[in-house]
Amino acid sequence: MRTVIVGASAAGMAAAEAIRKRDPITEIVMLSNETHPPYYRPLIPYLIYKEKTGEDILRQARLTPSNLDLRLGVRATRLDPKNHTLTLGHDEILSYDHLLIATGASPIRPDISGLDGPGVFYLRTWADAEEVARAAKDAKYAVILGAGRIGMKSAFALRHLGIEVIVVELLERIVPQQLDVASAAIFAQAVAEAGIRTILGQTLKAVNHEGKRVTSVTLDDGSNLKADLVIVGVGVRPNLELAVSGGLHVYKGLLVDEHLRTSDTHIFAAGDVVETKDVVSGGSIVSGIWTNAADMGRIAGDNLAGGNSTYEGAFSLLNAMELGGLPVVSVGDIEALPGDGIEVFTELRGQTYRKLVFDGDRLIGLILVGQIERAGIYQTLIREKANVSGLRRELLGPRFHYGHYILSKPVLTDQYVKAG
Ligand SMILES: Cc1cc2nc3c(=O)[nH]c(=O)nc-3n(C[C@H](O)[C@H](O)[C@H](O)COP(=O)(O)OP(=O)(O)OC[C@H]3O[C@@H](n4cnc5c(N)ncnc54)[C@H](O)[C@@H]3O)c2cc1C
Repeated sequence: MRTVIVGASAAGMAAAEAIRKRDPITEIVMLSNETHPPYYRPLIPYLIYKEKTGEDILRQARLTPSNLDLRLGVRATRLDPKNHTLTLGHDEILSYDHLLIATGASPIRPDISGLDGPGVFYLRTWADAEEVARAAKDAKYAVILGAGRIGMKSAFALRHLGIEVIVVELLERIVPQQLDVASAAIFAQAVAEAGIRTILGQTLKAVNHEGKRVTSVTLDDGSNLKADLVIVGVGVRPNLELAVSGGLHVYKGLLVDEHLRTSDTHIFAAGDVVETKDVVSGGSIVSGIWTNAADMGRIAGDNLAGGNSTYEGAFSLLNAMELGGLPVVSVGDIEALPGDGIEVFTELRGQTYRKLVFDGDRLIGLILVGQIERAGIYQTLIREKANVSGLRRELLGPRFHYGHYILSKPVLTDQYVKAG
């Protein structure tokens, strides 16, 4: 029996480990079109200013070459589900009994004049980070398009190298997917203190070159900014080409059932390529989050090895990051407005901020800035759709802990009393 996994990142590696847990014998072939060994993708910005080395960001695998046949620099170009085969880059045919598609996502490339020219970078891979690091050596001015997670991490990385950085964002606040207005304002201050300039409510009209060098960018309003390099971070889209070549059902992402099986019984999928259910809203989402990808990988891997695990869905937002030394955790629905059963509690003290969003008796969203220690408990309450009606006071208090929740559950309280 041979299981082939396409993609050697969060989802692919978690799947391989889950398969091995159940099944020590099946041959596992893992393909990656990247030439670097598996690594923690969110850490690549640190490579730009050498805060971390390649060694530091390696994903320590529990699998050795003897039980995982990892083939780097190999792209699967075509899928033939009828014959159970993949075509590899150089026309080699690889057969499989079971297949996992964990091809992830790639940066969106907006249609802006000059954006496909030299000196313009997209930060998705280890190799991309190395390219940016090389270009940064001769750069004095950088423009980043997009003030999301990747744009801001890139901005701080380049600023560490002493480069003058300007971030251009179409929306009216930074990291708009993860921060509300109040928390974005806290970070805007940290960003300004780091010497990074932001221009909000604008986008680029053109990237201007002289020969093979970027010289400037032109904004929507016609103004020009000096630039020696440009980084684009305006979101990602799932890598669906392989799935489409095999006729698998896709919509916004690769469609799967609750066991992460695609429209072909022998093919599963996991990670950023998948369209799944939002655990909070129940709507369909394509998630771009490491932990979601790893969770899906574990479930798909277990099922590929004969298990019957169910995937309950992903958080559309589940992120912890640090910008300018200030940590933030955002989970679930942080945008819901008060009314219609929605209640929003916020507390702002200097650079510490808490926002809890309730829908009736359920906690559905959360932002913690500064003090993030209890994020895991809140996340569990959101995922479990826990009834927190009896816990409001504790939840909003500064010393909330998991024990409050456990003791608030009637059945557990009974057991606790009996045991006592
Ligand atoms: C700079 C940066 C910062 C990030 N920060 C965070 C963060 O703070 N928190 C967070 O939760 N997430 C973060 N992410 C997102 C996170 O890295 C992704 O959600 C996660 O990597 C998805 O894992 P995956 O296994 O689904 O796919 P990917 O990591 O995209 O891996 C898919 C792999 O498959 C390969 N592949 C694709 N097609 C083929 C093919 N046909 N043949 C062979 N190989 C193929 C790709 O090259 C890639 O190596 C960040 C991402 C970046 C780039």
